[in-house]
Amino acid sequence: MFQAFLIKYGEIGVKGKNRYVFEDALVARMKQVLCGVDGAFRITKEQGRIYVEAEGAFDYEETVSALQRVFGIVGICPVVIAEDRGAEALAQEVLNYMGHMYGKETKTFKVHTRRANKNFPMESMEVNAELGGRILNAFPNLTVDVHKPDIMLHIELRRNIYIYSEVIPGPGGMPLGTNGRSMLLLSGGIDSPVAGYMVARRGVCIDAVYFHAPPYTSERAKQKVVDLAKKVAGYAGSIRLHVINFTDIQMYIYDECPRDELTIIMRRYMMRIAQQLAVDTGCLALITGESIGQVASQTVPSLVATNDVCLIPVFRPLIAFDKEDIVTIAKKIDTYETSILPYEDCCTTFVAKHPVTKPRVELIRKSEKALSGRIDELMSEALASEEIIEIS
Ligand code: ATP
Ligand code: MG
Repeated sequence: MFQAFLIKYGEIGVKGKNRYVFEDALVARMKQVLCGVDGAFRITKEQGRIYVEAEGAFDYEETVSALQRVFGIVGICPVVIAEDRGAEALAQEVLNYMGHMYGKETKTFKVHTRRANKNFPMESMEVNAELGGRILNAFPNLTVDVHKPDIMLHIELRRNIYIYSEVIPGPGGMPLGTNGRSMLLLSGGIDSPVAGYMVARRGVCIDAVYFHAPPYTSERAKQKVVDLAKKVAGYAGSIRLHVINFTDIQMYIYDECPRDELTIIMRRYMMRIAQQLAVDTGCLALITGESIGQVASQTVPSLVATNDVCLIPVFRPLIAFDKEDIVTIAKKIDTYETSILPYEDCCTTFVAKHPVTKPRVELIRKSEKALSGRIDELMSEALASEEIIEIS
């Protein structure tokens, strides 16, 4: 029945002179995701609206679910497009549509007409009244409610006639690529994939870094991170995953620093390396899945101590989220089941029994002095030996 979709986009609409930048980014991303869908599509922009039209047969479900991954889209409206063959043909077309969609349902409706084609023989108010009357006659179970209708039937009179009433929710946010690039610290846990998704949803392209510590962490733990990156990439577009071997740095810290400060110091070195990678790859900020109080390394004093080494902004979109709310999003974006697979990550192997929960920055800095002999060299080695995995 449907051969097209009207795409509703939210915030982009208010971007003034730059609006075309956002619209073009949205269309580019739509083209990208539709490449993977059965069917051929044409995307058109006219008068502040974006339409996806299928050329020939296409997979409806796949198309909708692909579009539901495009940030910037707030609604996807399946549209019936009919040729303009006058008022009577329009009425027949609309009755057909209503019969198909709501034939036996008991609902209220309202007709809303937009007359972009000023040559159409009736004014939009007349069209509303005429079609409303015809629908009432044809479907006794449907009644009119002009204030809060269950069904808002939209009729757009253009060169062709567009009929739609259903709005399938999109993911919202801003189109990818409209807000630069940031470096996500991606672990195998629940939080960081969600953090990446949330920042990407604001139009930020994502690179990712994963610190592994073979043989303390397994190949399967790494594969889990690759799998998570793939899930995030379904929304965030292709992701370059930098895998950094953290073993030597971790061992060195383990040998030289107080046990209860291990985690904080390790996290500071992760941040330092991620930051170097960010600068080298044109990323403007870091992204982590940290959330206040979740673990010892995420108390406010611990976050302060970790952040102490960061010279570029660190985005922590989950900072004030409860775990339960993070899990809800993880389930929605389908990362949860992968995240809970039980492969250790490099922090669990080296955690102290009683880590500091109120680290003092000066003391941590002092403890790190013990590393001055080899740490720069180890960091350079870790960066030089990175493995890059392209996730598309
Ligand atoms: P997550 O569920 O994201 O793993 P977490 O609750 O386990 O988070 P931590 O292990 O303290 O918390 O990590 C806090 C943040 O640091 C993570 O959200 C992630 O951004 C980053 N991080 C932790 N471990 C790694 C790692 N091995 N590689 C890359 N980033 C990491
Ligand atoms: Mg973790």
